[in-house]
Amino acid sequence: MSPAEKPKLAVWKFASCDGCQLSLLDCEDELLQLAGEIEIAYFLEASSALIEGPYDLSLVEGSITTGEDAERIQRVRRLSRRVVTIGACATAGGIQALRNFADVDDFVGAVYASPEYISTLATSTAISQHVHVDYELHGCPVDKLQLLEVISAFVNERKPAIASHSVCVECKRAGNVCVMVAHGTPCLGPVTHAGCGALCPSYNRGCYGCFGPMETPNMPALTNQLSELGMSEKAVDRVFRTFNVRPFEEARTR
Ligand code: SF4
Ligand code: SF4
Repeated sequence: MSPAEKPKLAVWKFASCDGCQLSLLDCEDELLQLAGEIEIAYFLEASSALIEGPYDLSLVEGSITTGEDAERIQRVRRLSRRVVTIGACATAGGIQALRNFADVDDFVGAVYASPEYISTLATSTAISQHVHVDYELHGCPVDKLQLLEVISAFVNERKPAIASHSVCVECKRAGNVCVMVAHGTPCLGPVTHAGCGALCPSYNRGCYGCFGPMETPNMPALTNQLSELGMSEKAVDRVFRTFNVRPFEEARTR
């Protein structure tokens, strides 16, 4: 197949740490095979060689935090047949969405020596709050095998085969002893979307919820459990207010 016939892939960055793009670069061997099947047309983290759109598939990392971002994502949407958002920043607003619970001017004044040069929105929002998104892949960062599956699915016009169960299922499959039951360690695994392979519980730590809430999380049950482990109401609030603050807050108030 000639390069001209291959589907064109673009990778875009908004407010983010680049970790999810690195998950794609981390594919290494698979990336070579991927490059044989698709044309990597726009991926600044990998190459300065750019090919003009439109693009068949755009992967979008990062959240919308500036007026310029809010305009640019509209252009990305217009240029892209399919848009897939990757990671907690793009799907939920990311850790930077903690600003949504405070006055952003207070942060700007505290962090920057010359706050008058900073132009920012009051909130950090998910890409889907601005444009239509065809698929959201969760994680902080996303899992590289899940990312390859999503790219393969969209290139082949099929639904991605991404499991919707919780981290607890992955944890049991890994044969781990439950840190919450055995050691009383707070763990968000029962309400968190699978994808990391239960990485933290495999090292005797509680899950931090990097992949955001699963489809049908039982938030009251886990909140009660965390309280029984001795966590104050404030501590329980804080444990959910990290990378996926918006979807966890929504799940808690459902
Ligand atoms: S989701 Fe996490 S790893 Fe990905 S860009 Fe945002 S902060 Fe970085
Ligand atoms: S350690 Fe956490 S993820 Fe593993 S089974 Fe227990 S609650 Fe679930």
